[in-house]
This record gives sequence, structure tokens and C-alpha cells, in this order.
Amino acid sequence: MAYRLNPVVAELRSSAIRDLLALTRSPDILSLAGGLPAADLFPTARLAELSRTLIDRMPAMALQYGPTEGDERLRAWIADYESARAAARVDPARVVVTAGSQQALDLLARVLAVPGDVVVVEEPAYLGALQVLRAAGALLEAVPGDADGLDVDVLAARLERGLRPAAVYVVTTFQNPTGAVLAPDRRRRLAELADRYGFAVIEDDPYAEIRFEGGPVPPVRRWSDDSVVTLGSFSKTVAPGLRVGWAVLPGRLVTPLTRLKQAADLHTGSLGQALIAELVADAVWWRDHLDQLRATYAARAQALAGSLAEAFGDRLRLGRPRGGMFLWGRFTDGTSSAALLPQALAHGVAFVPGAEFFVGEPDGAAVRLSFATNQPAALAEAVRRLAVAHAAASAPAITR
Ligand code: PMP
Repeated sequence: MAYRLNPVVAELRSSAIRDLLALTRSPDILSLAGGLPAADLFPTARLAELSRTLIDRMPAMALQYGPTEGDERLRAWIADYESARAAARVDPARVVVTAGSQQALDLLARVLAVPGDVVVVEEPAYLGALQVLRAAGALLEAVPGDADGLDVDVLAARLERGLRPAAVYVVTTFQNPTGAVLAPDRRRRLAELADRYGFAVIEDDPYAEIRFEGGPVPPVRRWSDDSVVTLGSFSKTVAPGLRVGWAVLPGRLVTPLTRLKQAADLHTGSLGQALIAELVADAVWWRDHLDQLRATYAARAQALAGSLAEAFGDRLRLGRPRGGMFLWGRFTDGTSSAALLPQALAHGVAFVPGAEFFVGEPDGAAVRLSFATNQPAALAEAVRRLAVAHAAASAPAITR
């Protein structure tokens, strides 16, 4: 007799982006589809040098088992960074280092929700969060977002009508997929609603430092230390393969989350944490590194946005790139992005149809385009191919 699979897991869908990425590894395809940071911006020389030094001189720190909560030096640095952002002191005891922010999300989903609980997500939403929340058995309630992020008025109205979520999940700055930034007044109101109605806010903020203009926006946590968890990551600022992220937790969540993490993996990899602790300890190097990331991503964002505006004009409405790694667009000429995709692949360019990011009624005209991994010239060529594919897809069928 065949053994049984957990039915929740058996029904999980694979991420459509991951499936698509498998197709786009071909060298003939210029991919605007991936969510990967630029490998040419990884600080490889510095990491190579630091790896050798750490392994030679501090093998116990670099290679031994470590504490579940994370490397002490790194937690202290994260606490200082998060204190400065929120203009309120964060005790390092509230910081847990995780295997990327994705692991923090997985642990939190299980700490905060039991199967059948409602979790609110902004829509369109980060696919990895939808996957993890579904795996935890949460029922997803989508609240729309706009250029200023999650529509807090809509959330407030639903709460007033009786919605009682266990948690609200938002990507606060340069959201994946839309690039939206949750406006400061909405951050404050979201924290107030959390305190009033008794739900946790999971503020996922891996793109906060990849900003092209202006200063940092204070995290939602600034307005409620008790209700808000802030997630951060070194995936976009150093390298995702190191798998180092973090959670800043309200005091009462520290022990339950740490216990779950201990059960899951004992601790996050020691070498990755030690490398990052060394990198960020050099404040001047770190500042220059972030400046270089911002300048490079900003130039790529401009190149992509400029080429798209030239090729499509007002047939493709685009958000303004303010930071992060993605442009979100909507065709205004009736183009279905899902129908365009096979044509685009045939012409050597990939993107992600926006419908993928919806929980409820999808927006069939939307597209997510990543500018992160291609040089400006390649982005211009990708847009040229997309325009040819679009013209081919929208040409009336020849009839005899
Ligand atoms: N949150 C968001 C919004 C993301 O876009 C990503 C990566 N694509 C993650 C979390 C996970 O990042 P990591 O686990 O590498 O920190």
C-alpha cells in the first residue's frame, strides 16, 4: 500500500517563476524574468580574501556549530542598523539570524498561524510568501496595493466588518513585484490597526537599501514594537547564496521562533555569518559598496524604463523605478501578458506575466520586468525583442 503525503504539501504548486527560469537558462534568451540579484556585483575578491583569513585564523568561528540565534557580532550590528532606521533602540536579544528572510517567513508563518487561520497579503504579492503561507495551511485574504503600497483603508474597512487575521504580510519598500513603497502614513496606520485588532505585521524589507533616490523610510516597527516583525536580508546587498537574513522580533516571539529554528536547522551557516559580520564591520567599505550597488541598479532601471517608453509609448504604463530590482507595467492596448509570453520566448526574451502574483482575480495585462542582471545594452536589446514579439502577437491573423 502506498504511503500518504501530507495533503497540504501534496497540493502545493511549484512557483511559476522557478519553472520559467528553467526555460530561460538558454544563452539565446535575454531574461527579464528572474528575481536574482546581479552576480557581477557580488564582492567576490573581498569574500575570497576574508574566507581564507577566517578559515586560517578563526576556524572555530567560521566552521564550528554556532548559537541558534546567530553570530553575536552580526546580531549586534543588525540591532544597531535596525535601531538607527526606526530611531528607537533594538536590543540584540530581539534579533535572530535566519537562512535568508525566506526562512524567517517560514518560521513566522508557523509561529503565528495554525492551519485555517487567515493571513492578509497585499496583492499583487511576493510569490515566495504565498508559497510559505499556503504550506503553513493559512487562508490567504488579498488586499489590493497601489503605488503607495498596501491599501490600508481597504484593510481597515474589512477589519471593521469583522475580518480577524492572525497576521498581515507586506513587502514595505520597493515591493516585489511592483516596486511600490508603503507610504509613511500607511505604515503608521497599519501599526495602529495591528495594535487595535490584535494581529501581527510581518514587514518584509529585503530591498530597503537598493534605493535610487531620497532617504530611508522608517520601518512599520517604528510605530509598534509589540505587533511588528521586521525581516531583512543580505541577499540583495551581498549575495543570496550565503543565505543570511534576519528577523527583529517582539520580545514574546523570540523564544518560540528560536525553538522552531533550532528544530529546523540548529543555526544558520557559520561561515556566511562570519563573512558578513566582517564585511559590515568596515563601515567605509560597506557604505561605498552600497553606493555602487545603488548606482549600478539605478542605471539599469533607467535603461530598461527608457527603452520601454521609447518602444511602447503609452501602450505600456510603467511605475517609476525608485529602487529595488523590478519594473511593473500594464499593457493598455488589450495585450494579454500570458499570451505574449510564448511569442516573447520565441523571440529570445523572457518576462513574468503579472497574473502570477495574484491570489484572487488576476490582472492579465500586467508584467514584471527585472532590470537587475543585465547591462544597459542587453536591456535595450531585450526590449527590442519584446517589441518585435508584441507586434507579432498583436498583428491580425492573415486570412485568405
Ligand atoms: N522577500 C522578498 C520580497 C523577496 O523578493 C525575496 C527574494 N526574492 C525574499 C523575501 C527571500 O530572500 P532571501 O531568503 O534570499 O533573503
